[in-house]
Amino acid sequence: LIELRDVNKHFGTLHVLQDITLTVGRGEVVVVIGPSGSGKSTLCRAVNRLETIESGRIIIDGQDLPEEGKALAALRADVGMVFQSFNLFAHKTVLENVSLAPVKVRGRKREDADRRSRELLDRVGLADQAEKYPAQLSGGQQQRVAIARALAMEPKALLFDEPTSALDPEMINEVLEVMQQLARDGMTMVVVTHEMGFARSAANRVVFMADGRVVEDRTPEDFFTAPRSERAKDFLSKIL
Ligand code: ATP
Ligand code: MG
Repeated sequence: LIELRDVNKHFGTLHVLQDITLTVGRGEVVVVIGPSGSGKSTLCRAVNRLETIESGRIIIDGQDLPEEGKALAALRADVGMVFQSFNLFAHKTVLENVSLAPVKVRGRKREDADRRSRELLDRVGLADQAEKYPAQLSGGQQQRVAIARALAMEPKALLFDEPTSALDPEMINEVLEVMQQLARDGMTMVVVTHEMGFARSAANRVVFMADGRVVEDRTPEDFFTAPRSERAKDFLSKIL
C-alpha cells in the first residue's frame, strides 16, 4: 500500500534520508525505531509530502505521490497522520474537531459527519466527551480525539509520529490500546515509537533506522531477540 524506493533527501549537507527502500502492505503494522535524529519524522513527513524528496519514488496504493494540487490533497486525505502534539482546534468542541475535515474536505453532510464522529468517539472510548473542548480533556483523551479525527477521513493508512511521547505515563496505555485495536481491525499503520511493548505485540515488522538509513527491517521476534547490527544492539541496550 505504501512503497518507498531509493528515497533521498538532504537538509543542507545532512543526508537525512539515504536510499530508503521500504514497503508497507495493506493491513500491515510497521514500527519505526531508532536514535534521535535518525530521520524517522522526516520519513513520515515525506510520505505525506510535508517534506519534499530529492530522488526516489513514493508510491501510495499504486500511484506515485503527486507533486501538488487536488491529487496531493486527495492523497493526504487517504494517509492520515497523528503527531506527538495533538494539534486539536482549541475553540472547537471534540465533536467539531472530528467532523470538520469530513465536511470541509470530503464534502459530507454535517449531520452524517456528526453521526459518524460519534461512532468514532465511541470507538476510542470518548462517547461521553463529544461536547467538551480540548482543554477540558487529559492528554491521553486529546490524543484519542486526534486518532478519531484521523479515522474520520476514512484513510487507507495511518502514520503515527511518537503519539505517546508527550503524555504522562499513566495515559500512555489508553492510547496504545486504541492503536492495538486499530491494528487488530486491519488498519495499515506506520508507527514511530519508543514503546517497545507495542512494537513486540502489534508490529508485523520493525524498521530500525540510524543516520538516515534503514539498518534492519525484520519481524519483532527476530529483531528483539537477535539484532544483527551494532547500531541496533547499542540502541536496544540503552532503552530496554
Ligand atoms: P527524534 O527521535 O528526535 O524525533 P527523528 O529520527 O525523528 O528524531 P528527524 O526529525 O527526522 O529525526 O531529523 C533528522 C535530522 O534532520 C536531524 O538531525 C534534524 O536536526 C534534521 N532536521 C529535521 N528537520 C529539519 C529541517 N527542517 N531543517 C534542517 N534540518 C532538519
Ligand atoms: Mg522525530
